[in-house]
Amino acid sequence: MMDFSFTSLTPGRSTESEKPVKVLVLGSGPAGFAAALYAARAELSPVLLTGMELGGQVSLTYTVENYPGFPDGVGGSQLVELFQKQAEKFGTKVEMDTATGIDLSQRPFRVKTYNTTYTTEALIITTGATPRHLNVPGETELTGRGVSYCATCDGYFFKDRDVVVVGGGDSALEEGLFLTRYARSVTIIHRRDTFRAGAVLVNRAHENPKVKFLMNSVVTQVVGNGAVNAVKVKNVTDGSEQLYPTDGVFIFIGHDPNTELFKGQLAMDEQGYIQIDMKMHTSVPGVFAAGEAADPNYRQVITSAGMGAAAAIQANHYLDSLAG
Ligand code: NAP
Repeated sequence: MMDFSFTSLTPGRSTESEKPVKVLVLGSGPAGFAAALYAARAELSPVLLTGMELGGQVSLTYTVENYPGFPDGVGGSQLVELFQKQAEKFGTKVEMDTATGIDLSQRPFRVKTYNTTYTTEALIITTGATPRHLNVPGETELTGRGVSYCATCDGYFFKDRDVVVVGGGDSALEEGLFLTRYARSVTIIHRRDTFRAGAVLVNRAHENPKVKFLMNSVVTQVVGNGAVNAVKVKNVTDGSEQLYPTDGVFIFIGHDPNTELFKGQLAMDEQGYIQIDMKMHTSVPGVFAAGEAADPNYRQVITSAGMGAAAAIQANHYLDSLAG
């Protein structure tokens, strides 16, 4: 974590065509809605821009079993609905809009969207992360034709079919297990001989008769003409290759933060995660970041929500400091 201290502030600016807001939240995942909830309860009348996907990644999760308060689990999209309802109840304005341009060089900050331009004294960035691609031949061409990054979205299309899952983390195992609801078989292809995923999921996968494993193996090509029919798999220990027949390829090999818009304006690490200190301050005073855009480590619904709440509390302190 870095230490960013406030620098001196310049006088405000905005034109009549711009919409001035006290707090603007970018993103509608757990971090965004938690930030908006806290900002709303501090009577800061926040505006939250949902981005292209309302709820972000959690809305694509079938069941969330590790968010406290839901002992029987809760559907990902249901949780997002509850987050939104609670944030709106206290005065958050939720806009189905996406930031397309940002100017953090002067205050108030300017955020251009598809519909308008906002000026804001405090900006909370919770733009999340996007699933990583394998970058092998056939992957792009066959995306939506058997290649998928979302089991909840696409699992249903693979009823009684054979699918492979690439990856060895919690996502790969969790989504692989979810796919056993539909698929005839689920082969997990992992590049090492041990899983990164937690023991509970690994044990569940081993106990499930539909799950098979190809360890020490990488996918080098997705094969198919119009639809996936196989993957080329290379064993990394002996170098041998095989054509492994499959109807679907589900890829869960991690994520990249959605921070392109802020490049050159905010300090980031080499992977593009926004650098923050313990209080969610970015390198620009008045700009805060929370959730997966700034967190390469935990990436849980609860940690993202906690970061969002902290960012809003700090935004409130920051606005108080501006007011003198
Ligand atoms: P992750 O933990 O980073 O795991 C990514 C997996 O993909 C690793 O096994 C990695 O292999 C493999 N991988 C990466 N690049 C690859 C490549 N180019 N080719 C082949 N394999 C590749 O990502 P994640 O599973 O999405 O999880 C992210 C975070 O969310 C974690 O903190 C996880 O605990 C959390 N999460 C939690 C839950 C839950 O608690 N229920 C569910 C989902 C996710 P190596 O192992 O060899 O590096």
